[in-house]
Amino acid sequence: MIEGKPKTLPPEVIAALQAITGTERTLTSPEDMVAYSYDATWIESPPQVVVLPKNATEISEVLKLANRYKIPVAPRGAGSGLSGGSVPQQGGIALALTLMNRILEIDTENSVAVVEPGVITFALQKAVEKVGLFYPPDPSSLKQSAIGGNIAENAGGARCLKYGVTSDYVRALEVVLPTGEIIHTGGKMVKIATGYNLRHLFVGAEGTLGIVTRITLKLIPLPKYKRTALATFPTVESASVAVTQIMESGLLPASIELMDNLTIRCVEEFKPAGLPLDAGALLLFALDSNYEQILLSETEAVAQICRECGATSVRVAADDSENDKLWEARRAISPALARRRPNKLGEDISVPRSALPELVRGIGEISERYKLPIPVFGHAGDGNLHPNMLCDRRDPQEMERVHAAATEIFRLAIRLGGTLSGEHGIGLLKKEFMLEALGAEQVELMRRLKSIFDPNGILNSGKLFPTGENSW
Ligand SMILES: Cc1cc2nc3c(=O)[nH]c(=O)nc-3n(C[C@H](O)[C@H](O)[C@H](O)COP(=O)(O)OP(=O)(O)OC[C@H]3O[C@@H](n4cnc5c(N)ncnc54)[C@H](O)[C@@H]3O)c2cc1C
Repeated sequence: MIEGKPKTLPPEVIAALQAITGTERTLTSPEDMVAYSYDATWIESPPQVVVLPKNATEISEVLKLANRYKIPVAPRGAGSGLSGGSVPQQGGIALALTLMNRILEIDTENSVAVVEPGVITFALQKAVEKVGLFYPPDPSSLKQSAIGGNIAENAGGARCLKYGVTSDYVRALEVVLPTGEIIHTGGKMVKIATGYNLRHLFVGAEGTLGIVTRITLKLIPLPKYKRTALATFPTVESASVAVTQIMESGLLPASIELMDNLTIRCVEEFKPAGLPLDAGALLLFALDSNYEQILLSETEAVAQICRECGATSVRVAADDSENDKLWEARRAISPALARRRPNKLGEDISVPRSALPELVRGIGEISERYKLPIPVFGHAGDGNLHPNMLCDRRDPQEMERVHAAATEIFRLAIRLGGTLSGEHGIGLLKKEFMLEALGAEQVELMRRLKSIFDPNGILNSGKLFPTGENSW
């Protein structure tokens, strides 16, 4: 395993990288090192060189070289990750996949798209919608994040309640293994029962087992009609009870998103969308169907359950433009919260839906006890919430409280039968809690898998597994 950060890379390594990708795609300036040193967390650590490959063969050559010299390699998509996964914490090579951004094929006969990892999620969605198809996973960062990063984090999003997460759409992958071999796993076929499901092993592996260079994604028919509804509640608890009631009723909205009062106020200050400032919480619903009449009946049924659970108002978006405005407001949460205090720690816990009311009560109690503003929002329909701790990193005492509060939130989620991450991954931020979440045996099995794939520990090592060091 690689330990510590190499000070400088031997000149022959830079020369060899230049021979693989050309000088213009091997970056070494101090400015470039800064540009590739961070993701959407606050963790920063510069690489020693940035390489921008254009295909799997170049990546294979880079990895073979890295193995020869035992140089760390950190794969990077669009750098929008919220767990520090692409930060080159051990220095070495930042392998940026942004130039591999072609949609290679949209195969309508088999309902699949074949793409390179650097394709932006939104660009893929728009391209397939043009031919009446649908790629549902929709992280709120969809205009920034890349499909390769989505695969590595098993990204989710609002629509995952009805349609599932990234892993539900991965049919085939081309992967460059840490030792340089190129494998193809899966295919365009719907069913595969031939050996281990290796393609799914790479989904959610956070770039520790291989570099995904080509992806075949399942597409589904685009629903014809959609509606958005907004229900206002006096408290977060009453809103979360409504979520469980709706799901128990047999209705299946595409999305049920929750925002608490502080989140609502921050969004309205940043990007006014007419959200109710005096609400304790709101639920934003997306419903869709191929039949307009069914959609209208289901929307009314959802509204009725909300009223029975104490909603003070339910508003159904009149048209597509109001619909889009409400979802823009949802996507504005992260930047809106970021304006409140100098820093924020965005968490991503996931619990069984029935535990939601207890989870939000517990987070409220932790927020009061540690005197920290912790706005709560997220994919309530999935039981996947994002409590965000607003703080100032320059204040060491406040940061101690942030650490203690985050620890309590993780433990609360685990106690309620949930887990550390629903979609952002573990990366550097949460690796020290892996033993508590999974137990020693599972973590050890994962470590053994990692060492089979990556005997020299060059690929994104130092991430995901506990190292005994808190990275923030
Ligand atoms: C405002 C905001 C909102 C967000 N909302 C959501 C949300 O709703 N749902 C959600 O799931 N996430 C969300 N995220 C988190 C983030 O956008 C996702 O984790 C996304 O999947 C990361 O994609 P990326 O291309 O930016 O990956 P990066 O940040 O570049 O990398 C993420 C991880 O993937 C690895 N990686 C990248 N490309 C490859 C590859 N080709 N092969 C192997 N490993 C690779 C990296 O090493 C790293 O470990 C949000 C982030 C922001 C800033």
